[in-house]
Amino acid sequence: MFGLFPQTAKTKGESEQIQIAGRLVKVIRRPYKRSLGLTLKLNGELRVSAPKGVPLSKIRDFILSQDEWIQTHLAKYQTLRDAIPKKRLVDGEQLPFLGRMVTLKFRPTTSSKRPILKFEGDLLVCEVAREVWSHFNPDEPHPELRAGLSAFYQKQARALLIDRIRHYSHAMGLLPSGLTFRAQKTRWGSCSSKGKISLNWKLIIAPLEIIDYVVVHELAHLKFYNHSQSFWNLVGTQVTDYQGKREWLRVHQYDADFLSAQSEVHEA
Ligand SMILES: [Zn+2]
Repeated sequence: MFGLFPQTAKTKGESEQIQIAGRLVKVIRRPYKRSLGLTLKLNGELRVSAPKGVPLSKIRDFILSQDEWIQTHLAKYQTLRDAIPKKRLVDGEQLPFLGRMVTLKFRPTTSSKRPILKFEGDLLVCEVAREVWSHFNPDEPHPELRAGLSAFYQKQARALLIDRIRHYSHAMGLLPSGLTFRAQKTRWGSCSSKGKISLNWKLIIAPLEIIDYVVVHELAHLKFYNHSQSFWNLVGTQVTDYQGKREWLRVHQYDADFLSAQSEVHEA
């Protein structure tokens, strides 16, 4: 499976753990692998993939030899995490939606128990029962509020993503065998070897051109199940400056955190 953050690709095989310089490193044995590979997950987890039979001492040496790379990347991820805009579900908060900012506006009502959300210009109006509102604590929003907001974003995302897949499917002559929406922790999209595309509905926070890049990227995997030059050439027929768009996704990878009860990067 190829994800947009291939360093977090799911791994198959046995795994063991070793401790090196105060760090826990997961070692994953892969029968078909020929060389050692090091990956650093966004939450700081280190993994080494290794061919079967390579002794742990050799793996240890390999990890130590990569120390500078590890330090540099850990620092980079930390900077990104520190820059996460801490969103609070309070009146007047600015939330990203389709690449722009909308202003959250609460409107207590007597009728509905569940929050009802709708756009009114640049306002994202949240009608919420007075009793929910009265128990409101900005530092720990009522679970119904967050769930309502998430459901609203998800609904908008589904409609838009289906439309974009349809558009680019037609333009590229590539049809996925299935389409699912998820809230993957570290991926924006993926394509399985059976041609099923999975998109992260939290993409709805991004500008349309970024969403389109992810859609095109995953559709292109239906023709090239790799990240070869031919693959990128195909992506390039539909989107300009795909490198800039990849960078946008990297920089903004935590911006949708406000849609989850817990940050999806601070865990573990
Ligand atoms: Zn890919």
